[in-house]
Amino acid sequence: MKRSGDSLTNRSKISVYNTLSRKKEQFRPLFSDSIRLYTCGPTVYNYAHLGNLRSYIFEDILKRVLLFNGYKVKHVMNITDVGHLTSDADEGEDKMLKGARREKKTVWEVAEFYTRAFKQDMKKLHLLPPNILCKATDHITEQIEMVQILEKKGFTYFRDGNVYFDTSKLKDYGKLASLNLAKERRARVESDLNKKNPHDFVLWFTKSKFQEQEMKWPSPWGLEGYPGWHIECSAMASKYLGEQFDIHCGGIDHIPVHHTNEIAQSEAAFGKKPWVKYWLHNEFLVLEKGEKMAKSGENFWTVQKVEENGFNPLDYRYFCLGTHYRKPMLFSLEGLEGAKSAREKLFEKVLKMKYCHHGKDSKAQKEYLKKFTSQVNDDLNTPQALATMWEVMKDEKLTNHNRYLLLLEFDKIFGLNLGEIKKDAIPEEIMKLAEERQKARRKKDWKKADLLREMIQEKGYDIGDMPEGYELRKR
Ligand code: AMP
Ligand code: ZN
Repeated sequence: MKRSGDSLTNRSKISVYNTLSRKKEQFRPLFSDSIRLYTCGPTVYNYAHLGNLRSYIFEDILKRVLLFNGYKVKHVMNITDVGHLTSDADEGEDKMLKGARREKKTVWEVAEFYTRAFKQDMKKLHLLPPNILCKATDHITEQIEMVQILEKKGFTYFRDGNVYFDTSKLKDYGKLASLNLAKERRARVESDLNKKNPHDFVLWFTKSKFQEQEMKWPSPWGLEGYPGWHIECSAMASKYLGEQFDIHCGGIDHIPVHHTNEIAQSEAAFGKKPWVKYWLHNEFLVLEKGEKMAKSGENFWTVQKVEENGFNPLDYRYFCLGTHYRKPMLFSLEGLEGAKSAREKLFEKVLKMKYCHHGKDSKAQKEYLKKFTSQVNDDLNTPQALATMWEVMKDEKLTNHNRYLLLLEFDKIFGLNLGEIKKDAIPEEIMKLAEERQKARRKKDWKKADLLREMIQEKGYDIGDMPEGYELRKR
């Protein structure tokens, strides 16, 4: 079956909501059909919670939509293992140190442990692996070099041992978040008195407020030190994706500080605008009272907890597909249970189709694929796309063959690996009897077919005849 992205000339329109313009825009690659995508990864001082994972699932869907439409994607994700304080704006505790203290381990051990855990989560949730998953601590030289460029161009100042970015040097600082700088300046109580302007941020710390800081590197600014949080993303993105690229993503909490500062330092250093053409952000996973799921909160669920409570991690993936990424998503056990039963029903249906889907493609099938494509291409409307999938299941105009092929196409976006579901619920022995019975039926040997049906029933299964094959069900 030919799909919309098979030929470049046929490629369907994709539109995405760009935080930078606050509009849905038609997606047009910056340079070529090889899309460069950067997504902010986890801070590895704890397990990723389901809120964090909502971000990564949304980014995975975005990447799959681009691939579905025939684009190539180069995807870079960072692992923050240094420099991130509990407040994104250079205040609070060092997150990695907090993790190390909690677990009585070194910061390095904590980083390694949770990086590994994150990779397992990615696999369990069927997230396509990034082309490059890069650690901040492996890119200290690149970060120092970038701070030096900014220093040379006059965007920094040095106070009390730390290098700061001077936000007043940029006319459009804060454009991503539409910050009202004057208003915020009046409202903000600044605790770091070294800052010339309230939004200035640290690029490099040498005078640490954390005396126990374990991760330190020699630097051109005298003593040993470590990077501020934001510089890692700009330095690594430019190393792997170039000084300008197509798409950058993260959760909405990154808009006012982290991404705003990434833009400031990158546009200042590279002199190219816009640094990134499309900025996409997901809304939060929230709890009943509307507060976001957070590592500091009590009710934070991990993939491990999902499994311990009898769910498959894919139940959470399915759950996320049901809410548009730009809408807050309410987490509840009932919601997760609903997703589980829908996913199981889907898997059951796919299993039935998988073994009896021979036939012809149909016009209706093509129309459904077109409809599905326009839905996912419309700012990743997965809730509508899911509804289309269930419509396909019910539509009598379609044969199981039509349905199965459509589902395999849809699954390129849904990522539930529908094509790989095995009939493991039905023992090999029963399958053999069913196949033998099918052969007998084809030869019109009804006596043998009946005998085989009885044998199958004695072993605890029912067999039903379908126009294109048979259906097995446990009694
Ligand atoms: P962090 O590990 O804190 O840097 O966060 C990793 C990603 O998760 C970022 O893109 C955040 O914006 C995102 N995030 C954090 N909390 C939530 C939440 N409750 N719902 C959705 N995304 C979140
Ligand atoms: Zn980042």
